[in-house]
Amino acid sequence: MNKENSGFSTKLIHAGEIQDQFGSATVPIYQTSTFSFKSAEEGAKCFAGESDGYIYTRIGNPTINALEEQIAILENGYGAIAVSSGMAAATTIYLSLLSSGDHIVSTDAIYGPARGVMEKQFVRFGFQSTYINTTDVEAIEKAIRPNTKVLYIETPANPTMDITDLKACAEIAHKHKILLVVDNTFCSPYLQNPLDLGADVVFHSMTKFINGHADIVAGIIITKEKNLYHQLRTMMINMGCNMDPHQAYMVLRGLKTLAIRIDRAQENAMKVAEFLEKHPKVAWLKYPGLKSHPQYELGKKQMKGDGSMISFGLKSGYEGAKTLMNHVHLALLAVSLGGVETLIQHPASMTHSKVSKEDKQKAGITDDLIRFAVGIEDVNDIIEDLKQGLEKC
Ligand SMILES: *Cc1c(COP(=O)(O)O)cnc(C)c1O
Repeated sequence: MNKENSGFSTKLIHAGEIQDQFGSATVPIYQTSTFSFKSAEEGAKCFAGESDGYIYTRIGNPTINALEEQIAILENGYGAIAVSSGMAAATTIYLSLLSSGDHIVSTDAIYGPARGVMEKQFVRFGFQSTYINTTDVEAIEKAIRPNTKVLYIETPANPTMDITDLKACAEIAHKHKILLVVDNTFCSPYLQNPLDLGADVVFHSMTKFINGHADIVAGIIITKEKNLYHQLRTMMINMGCNMDPHQAYMVLRGLKTLAIRIDRAQENAMKVAEFLEKHPKVAWLKYPGLKSHPQYELGKKQMKGDGSMISFGLKSGYEGAKTLMNHVHLALLAVSLGGVETLIQHPASMTHSKVSKEDKQKAGITDDLIRFAVGIEDVNDIIEDLKQGLEKC
């Protein structure tokens, strides 16, 4: 079987699998820090890069490499670099692609810490950043300066669910000879493949959909081409933000069911979104699957499904959001997303509480915004839970 040309779900089960001497059906956990060489000559070859033998787990490990190979295939990339977390992926990218005095243009409604680390930590190393509403393609073009090196997009954005045109971004980036980086966490490789749309680097917090079981924190970076792959891999090795073999095994296990988990979650999400949109206490709602979403057509074009993330606001505002948090019983009041369980959170008082009022307002993160990550439970139970909670709001 040619696994590279098979369907997505077949690749989830079979791509990247390794052949061991026992015919093991799953990838074994090579829980070792180091690897012995058969001879001094073999050791020398490994260090000279003339052999792809393993040396040390921070540099490479068979369990981790099986996962890297599989994700690279799923995203149609040259290669993948597994890291300890999604934020390790973001910081490895920043530190690999930017030098002191370089500038980055990015989505304003973005994963909070990915912006926080730029504006509060990396600013000390001379990195410059501009955050804008990237659904406005002209605004991107205007924000690019002579020292801009990276356009960094998250779509759908967190937590506004705004959708940015990735093809248009790739055109702008390449016209200005800068790199397009995409945080593809909200979609996973099942729903969106940014490299196919022109991106140079893609990354995932595998903590979310890819692992999918809320039991691991992990990240991965995929590049379109070889030189970028080696540049990023070297940074990961030297920073020491590598993945652990056991962590890789857990992700490999979760990954197998990615397609069926997302199919079920987005089927549930559509029904939940329809219920909420009609509810008299709901002021507004954004879900890529509903025509009311401002970039509905674009979402249909660049995404292969609508996903399972919903954002909405209540007529009773900030207080209403907090009341709902305190009165749902099935949905867990927790940050994160992409697991089998339904989660609810309130960015203004939780994930985005450290973002300034002005920046929140500009990014469309309103005080009433509730982020709802739909799980794979029975949809009637999810809706019943919301219905009884909304009665109190
Ligand atoms: C969670 C998340 C991250 C960070 O990932 P960690 O695994 O928590 O470090 C980055 N981007 C998005 C969109 C996320 O949801």
